[in-house]
Amino acid sequence: MIRRPRNDRPGSANFRASIERKGNPAYLAALRQMYSTSKPARIPDNWRDRQPDPATYYGQHVAKLGKPNGTGWAQGVCPFHDDHNKSLSVCITGKRGGWRCFAGCGGGDLVGFHSRLRGLDFRAAVRELLEVRG
Ligand SMILES: [Zn+2]
Repeated sequence: MIRRPRNDRPGSANFRASIERKGNPAYLAALRQMYSTSKPARIPDNWRDRQPDPATYYGQHVAKLGKPNGTGWAQGVCPFHDDHNKSLSVCITGKRGGWRCFAGCGGGDLVGFHSRLRGLDFRAAVRELLEVRG
């Protein structure tokens, strides 16, 4: 068994210096990520605060959206199936922007709605939503 010197444990300054010197790929990748300024896929931590107002967003993306009921949910035409009965219910108060289709298309939050509507993954949907707002 090989014993490391006491001051060369993982996590110690000496240990970090030694793997840096040896060019440990994982460590160098972590360093690059830490100091990189170009992070094209990065989502701001406060994205939930910056996403569009659900009332505005759903007003633009849901046909025949009605007035909200007492709990903030409004009915409109579901864009995910051939809907004739306003099967979609969206929450236009609060931040999350919940939605549910009672004809079986499922439900989720505003990001999930946008990603499904536009065929984007979660990250792409968030980025597009933030850009939509400017
Ligand atoms: Zn539906």
